[in-house]
Order: sequence, then C-alpha cells, then structure tokens
Amino acid sequence: MSSPKANDSAPGAGTIGVLALQGGVFEHLDHLRRLGIEARAVKQEADFAGLAGLIMPGGESTCLSRLLKIFGLDAVILRRYREGMKLWGTCAGAILLAAALKGEQPHLGLIDIEVERNGFGSQLDSFCCEALVPKVSPEPLPLTFIRAPKILRAGKGVEVLLQIDDFIAAAETPDILVTAFHPELTGSLAFHRYFARKCGLQPLAEENLDPSWDRTSWMRLAKI
Ligand code: GLN
Repeated sequence: MSSPKANDSAPGAGTIGVLALQGGVFEHLDHLRRLGIEARAVKQEADFAGLAGLIMPGGESTCLSRLLKIFGLDAVILRRYREGMKLWGTCAGAILLAAALKGEQPHLGLIDIEVERNGFGSQLDSFCCEALVPKVSPEPLPLTFIRAPKILRAGKGVEVLLQIDDFIAAAETPDILVTAFHPELTGSLAFHRYFARKCGLQPLAEENLDPSWDRTSWMRLAKI
C-alpha cells in the first residue's frame, strides 16, 4: 500500500480527492485506485479532511464555478491549498485554477497562466494525439482534448511541461499541475502517477500493477 510522506496522522492522509460537483469524476478515481492510491469523491467540506491532493476534473468551468460558490467550497479549496494540499486541474479544472482568462473574470486564480476557453472551437473540434512529456514519462503519452482550453501564457514560476504549436498543454508549479487535456480518458496512468508523487505519495510502478486489470476499466460506465 502507498505510504504518505507527510501528514501521517491526519485522517485521510495519503488520499487524493476528486472534486465531485460536476464533470469527469469516476475516471480519475479509477486511475488513482489502479495505482494503489486511496481516492475519494469530494462533495462537501468534511471530505477534504487530510487530503494530500485534490483533482479538479474536466466538465464545464462556468457550472463548476457556480457550484463551488453555492456550496462554499471555493473558500475551502483556497484554505486547504494554503495548508499544503496539492492541486491538479484537468481542462475545466485548469480554467478554474488560472490567474487570467481571456475575455472573462478568473475564478480561483491560483496559478499564473492565461487561458482561452474553447481555444480549438466547438465540441466537434475535440481531438486525440500523442506527445512526449519528458518530465512525466519516457514514453509518448496519449492526449485527449475535449472542447479544450488553450493555455496562452505561463508566468514566472510556472514550468511548461508540454508546448504544442502555439499553445501550452501542460504546466506546473511546485504545488499545482494543470493539463488542458484529459489523461483520465486514456489507458495511461503516467500523469496520475506523476501527480501522486507530487502529493508525496508512492504510486505503484507499471510492473506492479494488477496484471488482470483491464486498461479500459475507466470506460466501464460507458459500457453499461
Ligand atoms: N469547454 C469547457 C469549459 O470551458 C471545458 C471542457 C472540458 O473540461 N473538457 O469549461
């Protein structure tokens, strides 16, 4: 089992939460559990107890930001972040974390990036591709962009992990990871392993994964 580096005594230490107000929650939980990481859906303040990290999933950033305000979870995220909880925003989650949004007011404003929502066009302009992200994996990784934002600019203190053509697709600070794409909608666990390590946890190595595990298990809701 994974053992946390810090916060050993806190309830839930070693756990990564997935904000579960709207959007792609199940697939993130599935990827984390495949890596032997305890993962919990987060819907209310009590669910934040002892979390080492929180994933803010893809979905609809306008809707997510309203729900965060209605349930008062925006303030809880800011407080827990200041206390050391790491954050990863995928797609809409990255939009919520950005300090600047092209033509719109920012939401949580925790990472100095400028983001353009729907930067590739409509839902029909969604696409998949592959790219090498050397800090995350030695193998090229599958990337799924769904009505994705473009990260236009990364400020001081933000490291670009992946640049494609005229946009940044992944970036980080020591405490926050942002990806414009959806690693949870692929058979690769590399980004989830990377984030778990960023949270001070010890995810299973590729060779120690359950060999019977179906690499498309994250699709099982779609199959029902
Ligand atoms: N287009 C959505 C937004 O602006 C993000 C899409 C996604 O998360 N896949 O919030």
